[in-house]
Amino acid sequence: MNPTKEQIYRDVDALRGTILSINDFIHDNPELGNEEFKAVELLTRTLAEHGFQVETGVAGLATAFSAIYQNKQGGPVIGLLCEYDALEGLGHGCGHNLQGASIVGAAIALARNLGDLPATVAVYGTPAEETTSGKLPMIRAGVFDQLDVALMMHGGDRTTVDGKSLAMNMVEFVFTGKAAHAAVAPEKGISALDGLLLMFHAIEYMREHVRTDVRIHGVITDGGVVPNIVPDRAAAQFYIRAADRPYLDTVVERVYNAARGAALATGTQVEIHEMKTCENKINVESLNQLLLQNAREAGIQDISPPRSSTGSTDFANVTYRIPGACLRVAFVPFGTSSHSTEWVEAGVSEAGHTAVILAAKALAGAGFDLAADPATLSRIKEDFRQAKDASYLL
Ligand SMILES: [Zn+2]
Ligand SMILES: [Zn+2]
Repeated sequence: MNPTKEQIYRDVDALRGTILSINDFIHDNPELGNEEFKAVELLTRTLAEHGFQVETGVAGLATAFSAIYQNKQGGPVIGLLCEYDALEGLGHGCGHNLQGASIVGAAIALARNLGDLPATVAVYGTPAEETTSGKLPMIRAGVFDQLDVALMMHGGDRTTVDGKSLAMNMVEFVFTGKAAHAAVAPEKGISALDGLLLMFHAIEYMREHVRTDVRIHGVITDGGVVPNIVPDRAAAQFYIRAADRPYLDTVVERVYNAARGAALATGTQVEIHEMKTCENKINVESLNQLLLQNAREAGIQDISPPRSSTGSTDFANVTYRIPGACLRVAFVPFGTSSHSTEWVEAGVSEAGHTAVILAAKALAGAGFDLAADPATLSRIKEDFRQAKDASYLL
């Protein structure tokens, strides 16, 4: 084992109290997306106390931040990204309390042990992963452009690095019709709900004729007010997903046509609002392997293959710009679904605490390898270029 890495692990252990109190505080004070003020205050204060240059309000987002530590001039810029938003009505059901704690531990231990190696450790706090996606405006503002790699951790039911995530469009459909008394003068009304329901049916018929990786799931967010008024407004939200962007674009257009067709058939109008777009992950296998190797070195024995079924993440949009990988670290029993009370409870359990510390060591170790070995970084960048080109050709 590299002696500097051993020192990095000792430093993470020495910071254990600080790291775990951040984890527990964020867990016990769950904040919704774009309102994560307490988490940001604690994370940025801790990083500033350890010599990082902190900036809040990054990309115009009140709860986005950067914390930069430059060691010598030049060298790679190693990005460590964290999320800290909770789920409405549930708390930290996605384990985002683990992330900031772990990243702070990794960043401080790495910064302390760079020695003469030129490198910059760049921590970014990215709000609202579960809702509006802070990373998207941060990408548009060019916040991550200076990075050579972006690393994250996320809790999970197994320790792995995913090889993929689904591209996704989040869309709202609003149908409008004409209100009327549903018994006295139904012939004078046009039901917006009819248009909406017909769109749902049309989408059901699509399911047989799309690839098996496609996911289309919607809920009605407005279905009218009372039965005796013909609804003049009805609305639904849909997430439409597929393994790659080019195919997803074709599916999305078919869903839009289902909405337009349903509107035409029912005499309603439909407005389509595109709410959020996630790309599929650009997979850089050499970077995944670097993270997993460092997870093993940090003491994680049980490493699983990548998950075969994944969701979507705004981190994938970051991986379209720069090589990125997220280490998922087991802290709940295998098969336990996220966005659940089991995940909330595990966030402050011994398993949760162990995951935070191990991830801090693994990420700091990976950061050290990237700073110490320019050949590793060049290979990762080359793999990234190839994987990105291949994804455009799908
Ligand atoms: Zn989640
Ligand atoms: Zn999550």
